[in-house]
Amino acid sequence: MEARLNELEQMAKNEIQEANSSDQLEKVRVKYLGKKGELTEVLRGMGSLSSEERPLVGKVANIVRENIENYLLEAKNSIKSKELEAKLSTEAIDVTMPGRKTNLGKKHPLIQGMDELKNIFISMGFQVAQGPEVETVYYNFDALNAPANHPSRDMSDTFYINEETILRTQTSPVQARVMEKRKPPIRIISPGRCFRNDTPDATHSPMFHQLEGLVVDKGITLADLKGTLEVFTKYFFGSQTKIKFRPHNFPFTEPSAEIDASCFKCSGSGCSFCKGSGWIELLGAGMVHPNVLRNCGIDPEVYSGFAFGMGIDRLVMLKYGVDDIRLFFENDMRFLNQF
Ligand SMILES: [Zn+2]
Repeated sequence: MEARLNELEQMAKNEIQEANSSDQLEKVRVKYLGKKGELTEVLRGMGSLSSEERPLVGKVANIVRENIENYLLEAKNSIKSKELEAKLSTEAIDVTMPGRKTNLGKKHPLIQGMDELKNIFISMGFQVAQGPEVETVYYNFDALNAPANHPSRDMSDTFYINEETILRTQTSPVQARVMEKRKPPIRIISPGRCFRNDTPDATHSPMFHQLEGLVVDKGITLADLKGTLEVFTKYFFGSQTKIKFRPHNFPFTEPSAEIDASCFKCSGSGCSFCKGSGWIELLGAGMVHPNVLRNCGIDPEVYSGFAFGMGIDRLVMLKYGVDDIRLFFENDMRFLNQF
């Protein structure tokens, strides 16, 4: 029986050495040490031994069991570290691989343009005022002295939600709202989205962006308007830029003017960009009409003011040579990434 035990130990040792995974090792353990294992079978047979033989064989059996357990433990540790090594080598980080690129978003060119315009006027002491895009007919037209038959009120030009409510066609209603609430001195700009019932083409979009400015105080004159716009155009288009006023008519200003800037491509000598004229139409402006001041509870005998309005889309198009306003709204990343 002793010989059988030693034989079992040798067999188990061989099989343990051949095992190369934790699973195989477990099978070997069950085969020799399990409830129905080889060693257990031998020990069961001990009942037939004499009382002298039994303790001797029992001692050998215990040693064999201990040895097999030790072989198993050793093999288990070495297999574990081998398995870990194999796992590490297959999952290793390859530092020579190119990294995954993170695409950083950026501001839309129109928002960049709006920010640039805002910063110029903020540096001149203007505050930014906001108003609703869904506006009342009163603030969009009546408060701004637009006559009842003014063509811009037409259903074909304006998006009406109902008879009293529209999508604002300009950012001017913000001016009326501010004048109602605040006493002069007022010095604000109101940048934002506007809507008109236009068929989209290269220069028209049913949604576009405006920036309007308003200054109301004692003793404000046309010279203040001219100085402000001169500083603005020099900042935005370059220090060589000149401006000129052409008489015009707007209901909410009197006198009114359209302002042209000298072409920043040819400095006024005439090129294809300015169609040979040397000038580029820039914006509309004028002195706030006394009726508008009166409508908003400001005494035109005491206060005067000027206002101006410009299309942000148009200015950004001019500055960056974009020839179609629709490009801003098509969300083509190839276009947008250029800014
Ligand atoms: Zn030119």
